[in-house]
Amino acid sequence: MLIREGKRLPSEETVIALRREVESAAVARSQSAAPTPVEPAARVTATPSAPGPIVVAPARDDSDLFDANAEHPWQRHPSSSGSLGELHDNYAACRRCPLGDTRTEFVFGVGNPNAGVMFVGEAPGRDEDLQGEPFVGRAGQLLNKILEAIGFTREDVYIANILKCRPPGNRNPEPSEIASCEPILRRQIELIRPLILCTLGAFAAKTMLGVNTGITKLRGQIHDYHGIPLVPTFHPAALLRNPNWKRPTWEDVQMLRREYDRLREASSASS
Ligand code: SF4
Repeated sequence: MLIREGKRLPSEETVIALRREVESAAVARSQSAAPTPVEPAARVTATPSAPGPIVVAPARDDSDLFDANAEHPWQRHPSSSGSLGELHDNYAACRRCPLGDTRTEFVFGVGNPNAGVMFVGEAPGRDEDLQGEPFVGRAGQLLNKILEAIGFTREDVYIANILKCRPPGNRNPEPSEIASCEPILRRQIELIRPLILCTLGAFAAKTMLGVNTGITKLRGQIHDYHGIPLVPTFHPAALLRNPNWKRPTWEDVQMLRREYDRLREASSASS
């Protein structure tokens, strides 16, 4: 063995012997790495499940949904509807605001299309959303009693809400939802032409009068809605929660009846 620069170097014989060892080890490794024939993997055969019913989506003509120039019924301006029935039909599939996607039923309104008195609430609740009619359920039953107490039936008057679709969980309507929906109510009022309006609850009064005053301050007086007298009072659902508001509501609806009678007399005298 040689020693160079302080390091021991292997002799030539040693190097040759080492090289042979390395070469024979490499051959052994290459042989062991050769693919070992193995049993072919068992083929997994899925048991075909019983064929289920084939659900065929109903044919839908979406061809003009993406046509910016196509007119959809709910895009027509409410004032283009010539009757309550036409207005209803034009908006029954309305999607002008997100509530159109979460409602069960479109709640347009109910009652006499030539009513002298029109009641306006806030928005459909759970029962109204399921039945497609405003003021049903307990609050609706109480409204029926209030009407009866001043000599009206549900069929004599017209009842609607500012919003035609239920806000999920009865949350407060968003300003954008009101802006989208209010034109429908305005057209309902134009078509019915009631002698007098009565709003039920703070929300309806504030929205129609365009003020931010509480219902306790607004009630007890006759306001003006584009030339139509408007009497604000409590919502029947609020009376169920707070019976103390029944007396002021009674006073409001008596005032409503007196004013209605006066207006009716005046209108028949002038015709
Ligand atoms: S709430 Fe009014 S505007 Fe919104 S989807 Fe219903 S009908 Fe249309």
